[in-house]
Amino acid sequence: VRAIDEAAELLSRLPGLGRKSAVRIAYHILKSDESFARALAERIVRLKASIKACSVCGCYSEGDPCEVCSDPGRDRGLICVVEQAQDAASIEQAKEYAGLYHVLGGVIAPLDGVGPEKLRVRELLARLEGVRELIIATNPTVEGDTTALWLQRLIKDTGIVVSRLASGLPVGGDLEYADRLTLSRSFRGRTRVG
Ligand SMILES: [Zn+2]
Repeated sequence: VRAIDEAAELLSRLPGLGRKSAVRIAYHILKSDESFARALAERIVRLKASIKACSVCGCYSEGDPCEVCSDPGRDRGLICVVEQAQDAASIEQAKEYAGLYHVLGGVIAPLDGVGPEKLRVRELLARLEGVRELIIATNPTVEGDTTALWLQRLIKDTGIVVSRLASGLPVGGDLEYADRLTLSRSFRGRTRVG
């Protein structure tokens, strides 16, 4: 049936979904109540329409600037640099960190053709005034470490302290999947690298 194939084709573009799972989901939706299918479709459209990237930090939010950037209670002397917006969301859940964020939008990966110019580096440099510490929370992967080192060298002469999250995060793993306790610990035990 063409409609099922088309729905499955779209679903299979989602991360972690192969063709088989996509077909299974398409059939599942077909069997579900109409209200479920409608709610799912509406939520997806609403997600895209109501949430935007914060023009300051790059985190997703309904307002611009986001809740974190506009919260007067946050420590403006601290900026935590993350690869993706969902990393900042994971850190927020750990409730250990009270500074600001900066989403790079990726990591330096020469093999994939991603140089620093493709990341939100200029935006970061533009907001360093008044900042006393930059916490680099890129993932513990080769690219994450390379990016951290590159940033560390870039701001070496500014006098801003650069720190890296303590180990304990799974090596090669994603910050996104780290549990709250591990994240809290790695924030408290962060080490100065520059
Ligand atoms: Zn923001």
